[in-house]
Amino acid sequence: MDCIFCKIVNGDIPAKKVYEDEHVIAFHDINPIAPVHVLTIPKKHIASLLEIQPEDKELIGHLHLSLQKVAAELGVEESGFRVITNTGAHGQQTVFHIHYHLIGGRQLEWKM
Ligand code: C5P
Repeated sequence: MDCIFCKIVNGDIPAKKVYEDEHVIAFHDINPIAPVHVLTIPKKHIASLLEIQPEDKELIGHLHLSLQKVAAELGVEESGFRVITNTGAHGQQTVFHIHYHLIGGRQLEWKM
């Protein structure tokens, strides 16, 4: 499958990893929009939020617990951060392997 994030999971292309376990991997975004910008993905290929299946409930819950660890690792637990999953065209999703942007390290604005 020609999925760039599957290639990161498989080690075929490099990424600056900040967290990894059996089910998920987190790595620095190559084009960061804030001092902290990390992507957390399931190792399983799920194309988008709309493709999550009932059998993925435990995996997605696990991924959220992993986000707590990523936030702690990056030192943004106290200051706060934002988690975003872009979905589809209006969401400006460009990589169709579900990923959770964790953004922080500065005061974020809400209006887009
Ligand atoms: O949510 P969206 O699909 O738009 O975001 C994809 C993200 O993946 C971008 O922020 C892009 O910089 C990042 N990316 C990356 N490493 C790659 C390819 C894309 O961090 N090899």
